[in-house]
Amino acid sequence: MNILLVEDDELLAQSACLGLGQRGFVVDWMPGMNGVRESLRQGDYRCLLLDLGLPDGDGLVLLRNLREQGDDIPVIIITASYELDKRIRGLELGADDYVQKPYSLDELAARIRAVIRRMDGRSSNILQGAGIRFDPQSAQVEREGKAVHLSPTELKLLRYFMENKGKVLSRERLLRTFLGDSEEDASSNVLDVHIHHLRRKLGAQCIKTVRGVGYLFLDADAP
Ligand code: CA
Repeated sequence: MNILLVEDDELLAQSACLGLGQRGFVVDWMPGMNGVRESLRQGDYRCLLLDLGLPDGDGLVLLRNLREQGDDIPVIIITASYELDKRIRGLELGADDYVQKPYSLDELAARIRAVIRRMDGRSSNILQGAGIRFDPQSAQVEREGKAVHLSPTELKLLRYFMENKGKVLSRERLLRTFLGDSEEDASSNVLDVHIHHLRRKLGAQCIKTVRGVGYLFLDADAP
């Protein structure tokens, strides 16, 4: 799941990118409001994490503009403890949730998943499609009602695929998210091996290759 983080504190941003990355998100970081709306238009983001005190303006202005233009991307505002007024104002302007600095990355990850789930109209985290049922909480995967055993990397990959059902995921992004971004990793066929295993365990049809681009999770049963 791709997340956009707008935060001017570089250390905080780095730790959020790293920590959320370890929790299965792909985080892009911008240090100010400038260019955020263009990025949201171009990128495939599921959630915006928005610090309010930014060097080039007030995050609330950006939030208000987004909502006025009908952009309903889930927004979690990041506020300092003394910013109670701003927090309330943010929620009134259409923020979906907030976290208060210093926040726990586990809590932030849970809140991100919750706002995206609400956006998708799901009441639980359980992912379903192509005859597969995946409960990320217990890491249990079933195919046609039968338990399937997956390695930790396969579980992370499957979760990412199922959370982005029907979207083409580029090779580069998958490599960056799951296998680090050293050149050695990028040129190796580790990703192909993992996908081969997933297909063998879950059925060849669930992950489709899009030649020259990447892969997508397909739910043939979906309407
Ligand atoms: Ca700030």
